Amino acid sequence: MKLAIIGTGYVGLVTGTCLADSGNDVTCVDIDQAKIERLEQGDIPIYEPGLSELVVRNAAAGRLKFTTNTADAVRNARLVFIAVGTPMHEGGSATDAEKKGSADLKFVWKAAENFAPHLQPNAIVVTKSTVPPGTNAKLFALLQKLTGRTVDVASNPEFLKEGAAINDFQYRGRVVIGGRTKDAEEVISELYEPFLRTDKPLLVMTPESAELTKYVANALLSTKISFINEMANLCEKIGGDINDVRRGIGHDRRIGFAFLFPGVGYGGSCFPKDVRALAHLARHVGLDPLLLDSVDEVNSRQKHVLAHKIQEHFNGHLAGKHFALWGLAFKPKTDDVREAPALTLIDYLLERGSKIAVHDPEAMENVKAQYGDRIVYANSPLDALEGADALAINTEWGEFRNPDFVEMKQRMRSPVIFDGRNLYDAEHIRDHGFTYYSIGRTPVKPTDAPKP
Ligand code: NAD
Repeated sequence: MKLAIIGTGYVGLVTGTCLADSGNDVTCVDIDQAKIERLEQGDIPIYEPGLSELVVRNAAAGRLKFTTNTADAVRNARLVFIAVGTPMHEGGSATDAEKKGSADLKFVWKAAENFAPHLQPNAIVVTKSTVPPGTNAKLFALLQKLTGRTVDVASNPEFLKEGAAINDFQYRGRVVIGGRTKDAEEVISELYEPFLRTDKPLLVMTPESAELTKYVANALLSTKISFINEMANLCEKIGGDINDVRRGIGHDRRIGFAFLFPGVGYGGSCFPKDVRALAHLARHVGLDPLLLDSVDEVNSRQKHVLAHKIQEHFNGHLAGKHFALWGLAFKPKTDDVREAPALTLIDYLLERGSKIAVHDPEAMENVKAQYGDRIVYANSPLDALEGADALAINTEWGEFRNPDFVEMKQRMRSPVIFDGRNLYDAEHIRDHGFTYYSIGRTPVKPTDAPKP
């Protein structure tokens, strides 16, 4: 099948590549010329495990093309996927103030204006971007106005997660289609057939329900994270251990373990904006989204959890102190730093005159683009520790899990760790001579060790 993907970011590139890999003829479009030029040379602008090989292989086979020319991409496409960003509305101007927090659809409307004149008569437009309920209907009306005819519009929200996006796309748990016509349902079902061989469900519903499903999924996952973080903070106050509590509840099959790891709060391009957009939508229809507002507020506070521990440990004397930061990406196996908790900590420390050396296996370039030479970019986790007064861990990359504590201690000026991901066993690390703060557990100091 001939497909056009409008927007070649994390979702568009993965979608286009996986659909090319299942034998379709895919053209990915983007307005970012530099991005398209890199892709044409087989240089992948984002880090996503397994993506590079798949792009190169399918491009070489002629099934995957990249262009900035929307007309060329769309002209013969049976399906046109919209995968542009839908960021949070900033509500910048006075007339826009009430839109703050909602999903800003300006890229969706602009994309539609660009491709509408080039749609072939039986093309189906499919929104893969996360868009609020009602967008499908607005897009249907807009395309009718722009083309002077009826254009079929379906919703097909995407549930992949960065860091495991290829696997999530190819071995997906379900496909959700919000269709208006039998034709759209059948064509999109046919497209996904290779990915649903293991009897995974294809769920057909109204466009409004499909659009809402994506927000509800992200809001529920965010709720679990904020919930366990609030419980972790409670554990610290009463001397409990959140890891024990987590295990104590997780074995209950009604609860389970997924998304119940305490930490420094959720980040990324989806959860923060989607929770706020859903709350905005609820308010817009006259509801009071108490739970969603709290999930967001708990998360905003949790992103400061390490900063507050650091502040307290150093009695507020942070000017001139050296901090090593391990992990910048909002989660492991991605280079995405959008809304990453590490950035909250960097801002906090810089504002107080601290010096910062950071290491992340993949996200350094993206952070450098924002902070330039205001911080030091270390080549390895150990290099970041040179002369540090403390280490703060923000992302649970695999390579941070079993470090050489002896060498770490030698490199640091003072052996203090603020672990935002509970990577280590507290007693073990105390026995190596570290003072260790984690999330939802009692801090330990070398002097706490039992006397021999
Ligand atoms: P992104 O910012 O990485 O990519 C969006 C791309 O669209 C950019 O490359 C941009 O240049 C391009 N673009 C903007 N306007 C365009 C136009 N008119 N024509 C062509 N290209 C255009 O965004 P993303 O992370 O891929 O997210 C895209 C959508 O998918 C969002 O709605 C997001 O909420 C949703 N989503 C994201 C994820 C994720 O993990 N990133 C998962 C599921 C759903």
